[in-house]
Amino acid sequence: MKQTQQKIMCPDCGAEIKSENELAVGDILECQECGTEVELLSLDPVKYQTLVEEK
Ligand SMILES: [Zn+2]
Repeated sequence: MKQTQQKIMCPDCGAEIKSENELAVGDILECQECGTEVELLSLDPVKYQTLVEEK
């Protein structure tokens, strides 16, 4: 099986967001640097959007 390089860059601070688990559509990933959360929309190609906290 070919392993795809899936890099998710934080849209806020530019740090790479790493996930220990296999990525799946709908996953919420949190940036370790700034705490920004992104939701994974698609894997091929990788698409994601910032989750905006509602206050
Ligand atoms: Zn960040």
